[in-house]
Amino acid sequence: MLASSYNDVLVLFSFIVAILASYTALDMVGRVATTDRAAARWWLGGGAVAMGIGIWSMHFIGMLAFSLPVSISYDPLITGLSMLIAIASSIFALWFVTAAALSLPRLVAGSLILGGGIAGMHYTGMAAMSVMPGMSYDARWVLLSVVIAVLASAAALWMAFRLRTQINNVKLLRALAAIIMGVAIVGMHYTGMAAAHFQMTGSMMHHHGGVNTNWLAVVVIVFTLAVLAITLVVSVLDARLQARTSILAQSLEHANRELMQLALHDNLTKLPNRLLLEDRIQQALQKAEHEGALFAVLFMDLDGFKAVNDAYGHHIGDQLLIAVTDRIQGCIRAQDTLARLGGDEFVLLMEMNDPADAATLAAQLVMLIEQPFNVSRYELLVSISIGIAVYPSDGTTERELMLNADAAMYHTKNSGRNGHSFFQKSMNVNAQEQLQLMHDLRLAIERNELRLHYQPKFTAPSGPVCGFEALVRWERPGSGMLSPAVFLPLAEKTGLILPMGEWVLNEACRQLREWHRQGHEEWSIAVNLSALQFEQPDLVEKVVNIINRHQIPAEKLTLEVTETTAMLNPDVSVAILDQLTDLGIKASIDDFGTGYSSLLYLKRLPASELKIDRAFINELTTNNGDASIVSAIIALGKTLNLKVVAEGVETAEQQAFLNRLGCDTLQGFLLGRPMTPAQIGDRISSDWPGHVVPATEREATPVADSLK
Ligand code: C2E
Ligand code: MG
Ligand code: MG
Repeated sequence: MLASSYNDVLVLFSFIVAILASYTALDMVGRVATTDRAAARWWLGGGAVAMGIGIWSMHFIGMLAFSLPVSISYDPLITGLSMLIAIASSIFALWFVTAAALSLPRLVAGSLILGGGIAGMHYTGMAAMSVMPGMSYDARWVLLSVVIAVLASAAALWMAFRLRTQINNVKLLRALAAIIMGVAIVGMHYTGMAAAHFQMTGSMMHHHGGVNTNWLAVVVIVFTLAVLAITLVVSVLDARLQARTSILAQSLEHANRELMQLALHDNLTKLPNRLLLEDRIQQALQKAEHEGALFAVLFMDLDGFKAVNDAYGHHIGDQLLIAVTDRIQGCIRAQDTLARLGGDEFVLLMEMNDPADAATLAAQLVMLIEQPFNVSRYELLVSISIGIAVYPSDGTTERELMLNADAAMYHTKNSGRNGHSFFQKSMNVNAQEQLQLMHDLRLAIERNELRLHYQPKFTAPSGPVCGFEALVRWERPGSGMLSPAVFLPLAEKTGLILPMGEWVLNEACRQLREWHRQGHEEWSIAVNLSALQFEQPDLVEKVVNIINRHQIPAEKLTLEVTETTAMLNPDVSVAILDQLTDLGIKASIDDFGTGYSSLLYLKRLPASELKIDRAFINELTTNNGDASIVSAIIALGKTLNLKVVAEGVETAEQQAFLNRLGCDTLQGFLLGRPMTPAQIGDRISSDWPGHVVPATEREATPVADSLK
């Protein structure tokens, strides 16, 4: 028997290579499992080659570490064959653990094949070794080595499989598993070596022409380490790339979701937007068609929102919208869709059994929104106008239902706001007309189609003329002279009232300047301001510019704001009016008696005039209630030191009555209709100034007639 010994350094290397090869193999399993199919094939191939080379070289280094007192050489062909066996076994092993599940029979079969492969590689490799006179094997050791190979394979396959789904501590667990596998492989190898017995004869002979072993050891170690290292580096880089790709994919998905949310929801209130609403209505239509169900589209628009926005700024406006949203949401059911179309427009899509349900809900919403909102430190008052279209009677398509609900909403707006209306066929025509009107109105200013008529105001009891109220008209081609009732609501809604109002103010002041130049220096001019105009931030600046431009005394300009406008946000009104009156400009509270004033604010409002709404004057001589209201208003005006103007004086009795009560100024068809400056010029020369033309000469006619 030859005494054999081991080279310690090489044994250590064989061990390192075994562990490294195992680590690489486990890493490959991870790669194959997580990459897509095409890449997986490459990883399977490349990984198997690296792993096979690793296992084989461990075995080969182990053999080189083994020294006999004779020199040993290897048959290159058989050595190559043993390497092929190692690679083939590796391919099999990698392919095996990428399967979906690892059953026990599969594990057993796999271990037998892989273990057999490794043992086959080992003993083939041994066969390449040419030692004279030869060697023999101890069958028990051989068996043990095969058993170890199979068990090691079983452990390796199982661990690789488990690690595949591991998420935490993967690297550490993989390293541990690699050490266990490395020990098993090395164990198998050295057991296999122990199975070999080398015979010694007297004349020690060994083959020459084989490869020199020391040199070989270095080459194999360097080559193997290089292969394994490259494989690992590539694998790590790929894993990083993949991780980054997956992070990218995740953030892309996240961004997509956000985009979806953005695209389908209103940013401020988080309510569905028009796009999502349209989709929901489509769904409701399909459902309704199938099940014969009913549903309603409620188109809602806040009244007075623009004024709040302009007066307090967008921030408060936004908060008000959120508060309104909350309130509405508090009284609808989960299956209803509340959407915001933008601005102060909301749409509610509701399923129902009976149109009465929609009416009930609408009435409830109107009541709810009427209640003051506490936003920041302000108490804000708005109301809501609702239009209702019911499927199928008011439309069978999404577009039709929306248009008709919108038309019904307009109807509500035009009939005094703060309420709800069901759609009616007649409204549809209106809606289309309104669209055309809106389009033309935009061009009216630049086309110079606006006109001002002036209605005289008389000092009670019977004159003289103390000034005029400027009243706007629109000379629309094809439609004649349009009354403000026709186009002002539209101008307010679209904001066109702002340039229009500026034009009116400028033109009225220009006209007054002309009258002053003609010698009527006692005349003043009253200009109406809409809520939107009243609360625009640069109102004072604009007014000042205009009176400077035309050089009219500030006290000859009166700005009329309705009671409703003034009381919408009393604090703001007080502030604005303070600024205007500080400049000497006068303020008048128009249509007094129709809104609800807080006496407290009325006292603080720096107005100089109250204009009793003509509705009270109208009924003055026939309705006792109105008579007492008018006398109360006049008394109130006197107490607050305000001039009281009566508008809409149509009969001599009314005039007499108002005079008796102590009204300061009279305005109405009886005394003078709104008219053009030319008509006023004619009047001046006949019966003005000083005395009122006898009532018999001027019969009261409806306002519309006066516009033709
Ligand atoms: P208002 O400020 O209350 O103006 C008085 C309205 O009553 C005018 O109607 C006038 O023609 C009408 N009126 C005057 N006397 C009598 C009468 O004896 N009997 C009857 N039945 N009516 C009389 P108009 O011109 O149609 O204006 C309606 C409203 O439109 C105005 O009410 C005012 O609020 C608004 N408005 C008119 N011009 C402007 C404007 O330039 N800017 C703004 N913001 N609003 C305007
Ligand atoms: Mg007025
Ligand atoms: Mg009025």
